[in-house]
Amino acid sequence: MESAIGHSPAASAASSTAPCAMPCAAPASGEPYLLTPGPLTTALSTRQAMLRDWGSWDGDFRAMTAQLRASLLEMAGDSAGDYDCVPLQGSGSYCVEAMLGSLLPRDGHALVLANGAYGKRIATTLGYLGRACTVLDKGDYLPPRGAEVERMLDADRRITHVVAVHCETSSGILNPLEEIAAATAKKGRKLLIDSMSAFGAVPLDVREIACEAFVSSANKCIEGVPGFGFVIARKRALQQAKGCSHSLALDVYDQWDVMNRTGQWRFTPPTHTVAAFLEALRLHQLEGGQPGRLARYSNNRDVLVAGMQELGFEPLLNARWRSPIIVTFFSPAHPSFEFARFYELMKEQGFIIYPGKLTVVDSFRIGCIGQVDEHVMRRVVQACARSLQTMGVEHAAPPAAALEERKALAQAA
Ligand SMILES: *Cc1c(COP(=O)(O)O)cnc(C)c1O
Repeated sequence: MESAIGHSPAASAASSTAPCAMPCAAPASGEPYLLTPGPLTTALSTRQAMLRDWGSWDGDFRAMTAQLRASLLEMAGDSAGDYDCVPLQGSGSYCVEAMLGSLLPRDGHALVLANGAYGKRIATTLGYLGRACTVLDKGDYLPPRGAEVERMLDADRRITHVVAVHCETSSGILNPLEEIAAATAKKGRKLLIDSMSAFGAVPLDVREIACEAFVSSANKCIEGVPGFGFVIARKRALQQAKGCSHSLALDVYDQWDVMNRTGQWRFTPPTHTVAAFLEALRLHQLEGGQPGRLARYSNNRDVLVAGMQELGFEPLLNARWRSPIIVTFFSPAHPSFEFARFYELMKEQGFIIYPGKLTVVDSFRIGCIGQVDEHVMRRVVQACARSLQTMGVEHAAPPAAALEERKALAQAA
């Protein structure tokens, strides 16, 4: 049956040249595509995996937890067995807070590299935890560079840890993690990473990126449903984390210790989410693992950006910094453009988009992740064109101030 948004299975199946290993099925009839950075559009089989109940103490569920941990460690490239994976109930921010509270000693001092909302949230979290921190605030879209991290570490011997955001989802910038990791290691400090919206699609291999720990969650590039996140940390760091956490529920050491001894989560696990995640992992592997997923998401981004530019839209970031996760576009300068109306018109056509988070100029975001492929992206562009037409916006060019902003980025980065 054709869905309300006119998906044609035959058209998808015919695309043998698409990097997507399998055609992305449309969501159920009448459901819009979520072009948002999680929760996102998931595969039907991922949702179907939730149609059964599991006992949290049962051997079958313990085996599922063990499989999940092993798969994620493999994805992180931990061939030497130096790291372990600790899943934790809650959304991604719970895991970030758990990682910070457990792995940053109480007398530690963090350098937070911020260029958007998630970097700022890390600094806010450290404030709640009472941990000393220095923030390198690069504004809305400038990347923190290795050389400036080195300078800051040279200038302040108190800093013990650097905390970096891999893909800053608020602008879609892919931060230069290799540079940051190299600078941190060179200066003998430890690195903690928020790779929430990148891990699973953007390479993050612990053999190449020296880090103490990183976090990600079920509902981003691995395309599971929301309900838990995970910390992948050096075993040595986990051992040293005993007694460090301010919080029982967010104590990564205790969760790790109990899980290793009993195979169980400490408190009620999100059983259905875990079952869905295992199916999402199976699909991830079927697509060719991280490289396969990166290829599809990158193609989604390229098709989207090219189509939007034809309509006159301009992306905030130049190609060098543009992630394959989410793209920020400047709102058109045309006086008839209004985001709330544009959002509703897009929704009527089956696409949920995302407001922007820039402080200086108006913008909106379109995600490239989830069960969407280039065919969907072409239809997104068509829907944008139709929405503009309905609003009476003849051209989507951004205001001159926006292009000035972008020039600043090109010069500074
Ligand atoms: C999604 C995301 C988080 C976590 O957000 P939650 O809403 O708590 O799941 C953290 N950091 C980044 C970079 C993210 O994209």
